Amino acid sequence: MTARRPLIAGNWKMNGLAADGRALASGVAEQRKTMGADAPFDMLVCPPYVLIPAVVAAVAGSGVEVGGQDCHTAEKGAHTGDVSPAMLKDAGCDYVIVGHSERRTDHGETDALVKAKAEAALAAGLKVIVCIGETLAEREAGLTLDVNRRQLNGSLPAGASAENCVIAYEPVWAIGTGKVATPEQAQEVHAAIRSELKGLVGGVAEGMRILYGGSMKPGNAAELMAQTDIDGGLIGGAALKVEDFIGIAEAAR
Ligand code: PEP
Repeated sequence: MTARRPLIAGNWKMNGLAADGRALASGVAEQRKTMGADAPFDMLVCPPYVLIPAVVAAVAGSGVEVGGQDCHTAEKGAHTGDVSPAMLKDAGCDYVIVGHSERRTDHGETDALVKAKAEAALAAGLKVIVCIGETLAEREAGLTLDVNRRQLNGSLPAGASAENCVIAYEPVWAIGTGKVATPEQAQEVHAAIRSELKGLVGGVAEGMRILYGGSMKPGNAAELMAQTDIDGGLIGGAALKVEDFIGIAEAAR
């Protein structure tokens, strides 16, 4: 089996003023440096747009990468309030998250839009984290695997590779709720996603990282990431505290 390097990605959402963002990013960068250049995982932080330049400066040289939390499909133009992939790239971002459930819910984003955003991001030279996941009602109706397969098929960008695309499985009922999927529940879905990916991108699926997201903490991260098809985490709340975020990264060793 292809060895997949875990990715520990922090989604700061709409949290933090400039001083908080600088302090958090500097703290993560300092800790990352002490882990050594050969630490066997990648680390990424995704701050709000306005904090990106300060965060890029704060993590420079530490090995921590920076990403946006969303992007538009267009390169530029009359799209008030939006940010293009080219702007994120120009600001120093390596990644962008697309299709987070909060975007799907709050902004009505469809699979087709998520796919278009991901393709625009790849065209701009960014790597993408494509989020999918079922709601509690869908899980209780026995639709978990169907929903995740449908979202994956609809949202995966053309040209997705193990190098430029990461999938994040985030059960909506576990995001920000303190309810975490059991390692077995998560592994079942991750395995189904990888199997579906094989049909979509062939052998590339073996190398593509699939992150778990949903109330991941230092105390549950090791057990989750020990599962065969869980290749790291997309972390919300726990990414806002240096020691928690670093604790999760340490669990990936
Ligand atoms: C997220 O927003 O992607 C997330 C997983 O949040 P939390 O870790 O707070 O559940």
